[in-house]
Amino acid sequence: MKNDQAGLYIHIPFCLSKCGYCSFYSIKSVNLIPEYIAALKKEMKHYRNVFSSFDTIYIGGGTPSLLTPKQFVEIFTSIYKYFNIDTDSEITLETNPGDISFNYLNKMKNLGINRLNIGIQSFDDKILQLLGRRHSAKDAIAAIEAAREAGFNNMGIDLIYGVHGVSIKSWENTLQKAVSFAPEHISCYQLSLGENTPLYKKYSSEGWHLPDENTELKLFSTTADELENAGYIHYEVSNFARLDKFKSRHNQKYWRHTPYLGLGPAAHSFLNNKRWWNKAAVNTYLKEIAAGKMPVEDTETLSLEQLQLEALFLGLRTKAGIDLKRYKTRYGADLLKDKKTIIDELIKNKLVELKGGFLRPTRAGMAVADSLALI
Ligand code: SF4
Repeated sequence: MKNDQAGLYIHIPFCLSKCGYCSFYSIKSVNLIPEYIAALKKEMKHYRNVFSSFDTIYIGGGTPSLLTPKQFVEIFTSIYKYFNIDTDSEITLETNPGDISFNYLNKMKNLGINRLNIGIQSFDDKILQLLGRRHSAKDAIAAIEAAREAGFNNMGIDLIYGVHGVSIKSWENTLQKAVSFAPEHISCYQLSLGENTPLYKKYSSEGWHLPDENTELKLFSTTADELENAGYIHYEVSNFARLDKFKSRHNQKYWRHTPYLGLGPAAHSFLNNKRWWNKAAVNTYLKEIAAGKMPVEDTETLSLEQLQLEALFLGLRTKAGIDLKRYKTRYGADLLKDKKTIIDELIKNKLVELKGGFLRPTRAGMAVADSLALI
């Protein structure tokens, strides 16, 4: 990665309908969007002296593609007014396939958005219905075609695996279908179900289960095999890129403790070992900003020990692993010395390896990355 410059995240917490598996915070009241944009602008103004420049911008949600091109012009005008944005910044927009046409995307491209992420999830209408997505497989393909036509040459798609009724074979077919469009980036997330989601209730009433550990591992290795054979780099547990330059620069900031500013309800920020996050409610957010207050829910200053643990947790989810020299400089500790016994054991079990000054997970280690960090 180029440097440790900060990233900007803007949260758009609106969704026309709620997907059955979603535990993220979002609301349906799209009539609040103009007021929301006005509040975002005030929040930007507040942080103009805290963060001066960014080299990535990520507009996520929620469903950012519910905003009109004119509303994006407003947002970008403020971003450029209050912050310095590097000329070669990565600027990502998350989209729902049901919302985007060639015309819309063309306008987004002209605004400087140079990376598009499309929440496709599946190419099978039955699965999309079960997941409660409001788009069809046909919409997904049309969205990919429109993105290419509009000139997006850095396009990512999101897929979900481990859904009831999807065999390993049909998941393989989904991956092959995805690869046939040659997206620059593919994220594959395993379905997880929060207890309050409608899909959780459906699973309980139908007596369905999420995949057991064995099936999970098979799905994970099928995903990695299919995409690696197609030439993708498996650079993080859930993320694949066609070339190094297509790895998400913005997301890598989260994994490396690089500073970032998050605007909007529930958005998190990180600077000088301090993390703070906003209240997760649009109404409170609007009210507090209108009253001239920042809607921060809480702040924590991370101890060296917490930072080390996070660096371990996040680093072992990435193919690059942990740069031991950087770890020592940044966190003041010798990881190999401090955790010698356990690291030796993990190496013996072929879950991690030491190469060129990095401690990195093997494929088997990546499959159980979250438990590796508990060392
Ligand atoms: S579009 Fe995304 S944020 Fe909105 S309900 Fe669906 S999964 Fe949740």
